[in-house]
Formats: sequence, structure tokens, C-alpha cells
Amino acid sequence: MVPMRIEREHLSPEFVRRYGLFFTEPRYVHDNSLNEFIAVTHGLKPCARVQGPFRLLGQIQELAGTMGCVVHHSRFARVRNPDNPFDYAVSPLRRHPQEEVYFYVSRDEDIARRTRDIDHEVHAPMMNRFGGGLDKERCVDFGRALGYPSCCIESFQKARRDAQCDYARVAYGNTPGKPSFLTHYLDLSMPVPFALISHYPCSFSCARSVAFADRLLAIIREEEEGYARAIEENLRVPVLYFGVGKGIRLHGNVQGGEVLYERCEVLSPQKEHKLFTRGNRVTVDDRRVRVFDRDQLLGTLTKADRYNGVIIDFT
Ligand SMILES: [Zn+2]
Repeated sequence: MVPMRIEREHLSPEFVRRYGLFFTEPRYVHDNSLNEFIAVTHGLKPCARVQGPFRLLGQIQELAGTMGCVVHHSRFARVRNPDNPFDYAVSPLRRHPQEEVYFYVSRDEDIARRTRDIDHEVHAPMMNRFGGGLDKERCVDFGRALGYPSCCIESFQKARRDAQCDYARVAYGNTPGKPSFLTHYLDLSMPVPFALISHYPCSFSCARSVAFADRLLAIIREEEEGYARAIEENLRVPVLYFGVGKGIRLHGNVQGGEVLYERCEVLSPQKEHKLFTRGNRVTVDDRRVRVFDRDQLLGTLTKADRYNGVIIDFT
């Protein structure tokens, strides 16, 4: 089961008419691109990057134009790695309608163009090859261009020196007290559905990320109550996190190191994680994760380290 996605049925006809390009089939447009677009057109950030097929260029320019924004597009296309949904390469754009590109939206033409150029350098190591990885040094400049909080950029700079580069683990380690659902942005599924922020937060209670996401959600709520509700429902879910691309969304209640849940969505490729679908209770300590069906123990997972299986309570 995959996380809930934005569906036309959730939304009013006016909202769908306005933002229809974000609901085109097949679903090439990232689900959080609409939130990014709304943030930039309402002046919450200097520039937004939206991902979609090149054929949407005219539509996105037209819509952005009505909201006082301009759009530039990447001069490269994204090429998905068929063997790994988290990996992709880039190739020079041939302007084919189906090629996947990035659109840079801003109220300021210079900013849109500059962000496009920085992103080009960010992607340079990935030209014509899979597994190239982004130019992390330029990622920092890119983050600044997109208006990410400076605390989160600093934390990203530190975390990227670590070979694991698991930003969620870093954010978890930096979170004092309860995480905020407003910062729920985890590398668990591609695309990331509904996220209100597009950066790696320095912590899951980062004040600047929370303030940004809170303002954005308020704007969305004013425009479309049903969509705001769907976002909140989808983000307010406890996650049992094992690492990049490995986690389980547990729909239930957290009490200390325990989650009682009614249903779950296993987003990990690991076969042993299927176990969670048969249980209704999880307990976590520093050494192991145990899954129960009421009081019956279904299985135990031994943690490689204390972070390998942590409850992030986004409720
Ligand atoms: Zn921060």
C-alpha cells in the first residue's frame, strides 16, 4: 500500500481547473510540486523548483504569468534509473514533450535564471550516467537560491560529509522533544506525497521550517480546505524509520517506545518488514524492534545501531 496521493476527487472543480497541470496523467508531476508552486506564487520563497514533463512548459508559464511569476526550465532532462527509483541521471534536453525537466518559478526573472544555472552545476556529475550523485557543494548554493532556512543548510553541509548521508537520521538526532508534522519530509517514497517543505530540515522541530510550513498550510487552507485536510492527515502519521527508503507508516498512537496501530504502509523493500502488516503493536528500544499481534510476539528485528529503527512521532 502506498501513501495517499492527491486525487482530483478530493478537490473542488475550481481548484482542479486552476492547478490542473499538476494532475496530468501519467503522474509525472511530483505531488509536493503544487505546494512549492503555491509557496512561491504567494511570496513565501524566492524560487521554487517544480518537476514535470517538458510538454507542460506552456501551461506552467501561463499559470505562473497570471500570478506575477516567470518560469525557466532546465536545459537537461531527468532520466530515471529503471533499477532504482531513488536514482536518476541527466542528459542534454532534446525538447521532446515527454522528457522530464525541472521548472524554476520565481517572481524575479534573474532569480529563476540563476537558480536554473546553479541547478545545472548541481547536476553536472550526473550527466549521462547513473549513480553520479549531485554536486553537494553546489547544493548549498541551490538551497540558498530556493530560500531554505540557513540552519537547515548548515546542518545539510555537516551531514553530507558523513558517508551515510542520511539526513532524516541527522534531523531525528537533533530533535528535542516531539517532532512536528509540518516538517514531515522523509525519503521513504518517490514522489514524496504532500510534503510542505522541500528541504532536509535540521531537526523535525526546526522553528524556521515549522513557521514556513505553517504559513503555507494556512494559505492552502484558504484556497482549498479539502486539500489542506488531506495534507494534514497524510503528514500526521508516526513513522518507524530504518534509513533512506526504508520505513513503515504506522496509523496509530505513540506511547514512549511503543506504537499501537490499526493499519500500516510498508515502504521498505525488505521482505522482513512485511511482518508489520500482520501486527498491531510495535515496541522499540536501543537494540531491537519487536512486532506483536496483541500480546503474541510475531517477530524481532535486531537493530544495526540505535538509529536503525526509530519512531518519529509526526502525529
Ligand atoms: Zn532548520
